[in-house]
Amino acid sequence: VETPLRGVFYLRSPEDSKQIHAAGQGADAVLIGSSFIALESAAYLVANGAKSVTVLARDPVPFKALFGEEAGKAARRLHESKGVKFVIGELQSFASDAQGGLSGLKLKSGDTLPAQLCVVGIGSTPNTAFLPAVLLAGGKPGSPLVVGPDLRSPSDSNVFGAGDVLGYGHWQTAQTQGRLAARSMLGKP
Ligand SMILES: Cc1cc2nc3c(=O)[nH]c(=O)nc-3n(C[C@H](O)[C@H](O)[C@H](O)COP(=O)(O)OP(=O)(O)OC[C@H]3O[C@@H](n4cnc5c(N)ncnc54)[C@H](O)[C@@H]3O)c2cc1C
Repeated sequence: VETPLRGVFYLRSPEDSKQIHAAGQGADAVLIGSSFIALESAAYLVANGAKSVTVLARDPVPFKALFGEEAGKAARRLHESKGVKFVIGELQSFASDAQGGLSGLKLKSGDTLPAQLCVVGIGSTPNTAFLPAVLLAGGKPGSPLVVGPDLRSPSDSNVFGAGDVLGYGHWQTAQTQGRLAARSMLGKP
């Protein structure tokens, strides 16, 4: 997926991280989201050359859904102690300079955050567009593949799933499920 402006990035590959590092030098950086991608990027940029680092989040407590209120508040305090600012709000649109680069983020509140670098860390959708919709949750394109406990699709016995395609987001889960799916294919669940 193309990002809309020079200076606006997703973080999906080592090449993305190199570009984010380069764009972050001396920049006002805004990270959208309050989970791993945004906060790990904020922690990196605040220690590695950014002029200012701001997390734009909908929820004042990062990681709340994952780790709860107390741990989330501690994570926010830790980031703030290193110089990361938190702004609670939502993006309305990106603003650009005369050269077509990012100049800021316009928020729904009407405020504008100046920024030459923005990393969008707002979650992911499973890459399931190539699969028939009948195999997917709710029969909807872009939804996770549905499997049973043996990781086999209930709708097509020749289809197995493992990892992010099932809607998870962890290396260890993907590796374990890959092994389990292989065992199921061999009839050794
Ligand atoms: C920046 C970042 C940081 C992360 N940090 C962590 C972390 O610290 N800890 C953690 O546990 N997890 C982390 N994750 C999540 C972790 O990377 C994923 O959960 C894991 O890689 C999932 O493995 P997978 O094999 O399911 O999918 P992927 O690793 O995405 O592999 C899918 C592969 O399938 C290929 N593919 C896709 N569609 C097709 C097609 N139609 N035909 C052929 N090939 C196709 C893709 O090119 C890719 O090579 C991170 C993810 C990102 C993006």
